[in-house]
Amino acid sequence: MALEDIRIVLVNTSHSGNIGSVARAMKTMGLSKLYLVDPACEVDSHASALAAGATDVLGNATIVKELSEAIEDCALTIGTSARSRTLSWPMVEPRECAQKLVNESNYGPVALVFGRENSGLTNEELQLCNYHVCIPANPEYSSLNLAMAVQTLTYETRMAFLDTQDAQPEVDDAVYPSAKQMALFYEHLESTLNETGFIIKQHPGMVMTKLKRLFNRARPEDQELNILRGILTSINKSTNNK
Ligand code: SAH
Repeated sequence: MALEDIRIVLVNTSHSGNIGSVARAMKTMGLSKLYLVDPACEVDSHASALAAGATDVLGNATIVKELSEAIEDCALTIGTSARSRTLSWPMVEPRECAQKLVNESNYGPVALVFGRENSGLTNEELQLCNYHVCIPANPEYSSLNLAMAVQTLTYETRMAFLDTQDAQPEVDDAVYPSAKQMALFYEHLESTLNETGFIIKQHPGMVMTKLKRLFNRARPEDQELNILRGILTSINKSTNNK
């Protein structure tokens, strides 16, 4: 069900006060699932003090080593970024981001990912996301404090959720693969392209990143991904028979 299935993922956070403030920001907007990826600080008394009445969100936080673990069962992951990156990725506005999270959380878990205080998310981490969202802040100074960014985007999420309370639910029959299924597909694609010689191991270039962006944009459904896996398997069989 909607808000319970929307998780907030913080990557490599270095200030425990920010983790506490994020817990508070989440609870005020009705969210409760916090994931901490490789936190660079303890979840200490400073975090609890800033969490105030949201120490339950803090206490129930799930700690994992890698971003891929935090999102593996999610069919939709949106990454946040304060600035545009060299390889552009599909972008959504904060309001559209909130609508997508709320709609798709009816079918399973979805994630909103936040980066490090000093350097944000790496390109590799951003490429694990289906979309990127940027809060259109002052172009001359657009970097919000981590917890403030969480507050802003979770506020939009709550507004989108409240809208659905009076409206008919949107029907979407599509079932999308999880991040883990997509990762397995990319491994299969890469090994097949190595096998056929399309990718030269010593000089792989940007091919895989660009293919990931293409499939990410197309967003294959479960059944379509099965067809693609079947095509790869048929290529594997014919190259192995030669
Ligand atoms: N100096 C970093 C900014 C880090 S701010 C950089 O250049 O990327 C810490 C985190 O807060 C970011 O990783 C992002 O998750 C969130 N954040 C801050 N400002 C934001 C904005 N304008 N839009 C979206 N997310 C933002």
